[in-house]
Amino acid sequence: MQKQVEPLKTIIEAAAKIHGHLGPFLVLGVKMGEAALKKLGGLQKGSLRVKLKVPLQTPYSCLIDGVQTATQCTVGNRKLELENSDENFIAGYFKNEDSDDVLVIRVKPHIIEALMTEMAPPNYPEEAMEALAWKTAEKTEEELFSFR
Ligand SMILES: [Zn+2]
Repeated sequence: MQKQVEPLKTIIEAAAKIHGHLGPFLVLGVKMGEAALKKLGGLQKGSLRVKLKVPLQTPYSCLIDGVQTATQCTVGNRKLELENSDENFIAGYFKNEDSDDVLVIRVKPHIIEALMTEMAPPNYPEEAMEALAWKTAEKTEEELFSFR
């Protein structure tokens, strides 16, 4: 496993435990949530709110559980709002309630397309899915996301 994946390993495994399986969109969610925490910086506990625009169907929606695990903003604690979107649009709106700063993190459309193409064959095996998940974990935030 590559060096940059090590710090994420524990949280990706925690996300997979909640979610029931490990896949690349779950990993995208973990990495998106971690990137938001890092870029917003100095967040007080409990002051983050998240809105996710994501197609509300698997495998896209797997991303939701990754974000929930990384940020502890969940549907249950009412700090996460979900909105359905088109297939090549996945974005998170991360708001610091204390400063009103909003960070938008969008998954680059070509990343979504590449994953969907890779997973297109029927009965795509679980081992291949997990391998693709770890391969996604190795990509940098800049490769996966655009920020504003
Ligand atoms: Zn899933």
